[in-house]
Formats: sequence, C-alpha cells, structure tokens
Amino acid sequence: MFLALILPLSAKVSPLAPTPDWSRLDPYQETITRADFEELLNKIYAPNAAADGLIDITDKGAFVRTDGVGSPYLLKFAVDRDSARRRPVYWKSREALPPLLPGKPLNGLKVAIDPGHLGGAWAKMEERWFQIGKSAPVTEGDMTLRVAKMLIPRLTELGAEVFLTRSKPGPLTSQRPEQLRGKAADALREKGESTAGDAVQKESERLFYRASEIRRRAKLVNESIHPDIVLCLHFNAEAWGNEKNPTLVQENHLHLLVTGAWGRSELEYEDQRLDMLVKLLNRSFNEEVAVSNAVASTMAKATGLPPYVYRGGSVVRVNDNPYIWARNLLANRLFTCPVVYIEPYVMNNRLVFARIQAGDYDGRRDFGGVPRVSIYREYADGVVAGLVNYYSKR
Ligand SMILES: [Zn+2]
Repeated sequence: MFLALILPLSAKVSPLAPTPDWSRLDPYQETITRADFEELLNKIYAPNAAADGLIDITDKGAFVRTDGVGSPYLLKFAVDRDSARRRPVYWKSREALPPLLPGKPLNGLKVAIDPGHLGGAWAKMEERWFQIGKSAPVTEGDMTLRVAKMLIPRLTELGAEVFLTRSKPGPLTSQRPEQLRGKAADALREKGESTAGDAVQKESERLFYRASEIRRRAKLVNESIHPDIVLCLHFNAEAWGNEKNPTLVQENHLHLLVTGAWGRSELEYEDQRLDMLVKLLNRSFNEEVAVSNAVASTMAKATGLPPYVYRGGSVVRVNDNPYIWARNLLANRLFTCPVVYIEPYVMNNRLVFARIQAGDYDGRRDFGGVPRVSIYREYADGVVAGLVNYYSKR
C-alpha cells in the first residue's frame, strides 16, 4: 500500500488493451482546425460533455490527459483548413479512388468484410446460439460468414478487391480462455465484482471471444489488409431468455452503426481516449456516414424492415437518417478506417426464424404471404446495391 502511494499515477486501461502510446497522435499534429475538432468531439465522439476535464480545448490546441505519462499530450490545431497538414491514413475515400471502368462500379475499392462473431463450436460460449426443439440451431457467427462468402464473388465481379477477417468458423486469435484467467480475475476486481470460479471462467471466455478476438481482427485490418472500407456483418436479436427454450417475438428491425458516442466512464479509460482521438483525427466520419447512408437505404428496401430505435444507452443520431446511430463498440472503434456496421433482422422474430430454418435456396418462397429470396441473398443484395449506388457516383 505504501509503495502504491509513491509510484506515479497509473493509467486506467481496458483489459487486453496495449499500453497507450500517445505518439500515435504525432502524425495528426496540425491536421485539423479547432472548429472542426470541437464539432466532431461535441456532436459525434464525446457528446454530452463526456470529455470535459479529460480534453481541454484552447486556441493553442487540445490538451489531453495522459495518466500513464503524467503531463498532458498537446495536439496542435491547424490555423485554417487550407493550411492543415495532410492526415496520414491508409484508406481512400470515394474521391481518391481511381476512375470508374465500364461495368465495374467498385473498381479500385479495397473491401474488408468482418463476419461478426465466431460461430461453429464457439457459438454457445459466445452466447450467439439458440435452438427450438429439434430445429437447426441458430448461430449468428455462421450466418454472418454465409453472407460474407456470398459477397466475395459479387463484389469481386464489380471490380472490388475483397478480404475477409475470417473465412471459417472459429477464432483468429491464438489466445484461449484458460490463458486469460489471470486477466479475467483482474478485470472482475476492477469492476468490483465477485471472483468466484464460475465468474472468472465466464469473464475469461468473454475476454477471449470479444476483446482478444476483436483486437486480433483489427490488427489484421489495420496492419495488413489496409482496406478503404470495413463491412461488419451482424444479425440482431431481442432477448431470447433460455437458449433451449427461446422466446420468439414480433419485433423485427434494421439499423447501422457508425463509431461515436463515447460515454464519460469509457473515456476515463486511457486506451479508449486514445482510440477515440485516432478515430476522430483520421476523419473517417464523413465517409463512414456517407457509405452507411447508401447501404441503409438499399438494406431497408431489400428487407422492408423498419428502423430500430434505441431507448437509452450511450448512442446519438448523426443525421436525419432514422436507420443510423453512433455507438462506441470495440468492434467498430479499433478499425482505423471507415466502417459500415450492419444490424438487420431479429433472429428470434417468428418470420425471421422460419426464414433461417429454410436456409439458402434459389428463387422465391412464401413467408407470411410474401414471396421472398433467401434471407442470406436478401442481405447480400442490400449490401451490394448500396455499395454500387455509392461508389458508382465518382
Ligand atoms: Zn452480432
């Protein structure tokens, strides 16, 4: 206890996050004006004064609290937009892509598809598994992979270069829950929760399939693939209760997420403060919203689904599109390029459940009096049409 008092204040860091390296912001010096910084910070990334006292904005620049270092990090602003230095990013916005080729509306576009979750033998552990009687289990991680695989030939044919963060069920990370038990116990202690055996087991699994896995995928995307856009594919659900006797519901909806809406308690984690600033400063916001707008519109048309409305939680709207929300997720904030994060269909909706049971098929089949293509093709159709609409207008 005595030793702790004389050591420097240590940074509060999320489980499995690397020690925050504030020099990551050095390349962004003088790349943004004070007005643009304040607008993005206050409206999108840290609304409701979430960064007050953590980021002090002056004419000289933004002073960012860095507990690990001790003294604040100073990010200097550009005097005006014309003299702002170029930001160092690996991705290209639509304007920077090469010219269109005939019949190739996605020419020159590098797309990374991230099929959400793990699926397969891991679906139960990651709580993305339910089953009704003897029907086929519903496993989100296998469904997202199915859509991803349908997208590869279609997007390639249209001129895009396509990469997957995973091409089979299972994890990319080499870490396993057993190796993460110590970190899991630390994380529980920090949250003031019980460190009984069962709780440590659960937490170590969560650190494996969420934190470790998503960090590994982000490393692949940011350090190897260098895409212009990441498509995070998910299927949504309402609370289903018992996985062996799940509740089926009438609700069904669609929404897309862009990165933003950090809460105060999240920004107190030094790694999250740094991640937020990297995302803000790399200026992926405009492109992220523009592509999300295009995909939301074609997904809504393909699926006929109404927009999902959040009732609480740290979320904000970013424009007048009812399908789009900003939210801070590990699975969108760590990708340092524009991300389109898609959440269509409630898997435990009665009709959706029936469509999942039908699997993939040619042509149309009747569901609730409506002839429909398979749920997987409908999802892929919506994504492809949105990307074509957006990138063909160069
Ligand atoms: Zn999901």
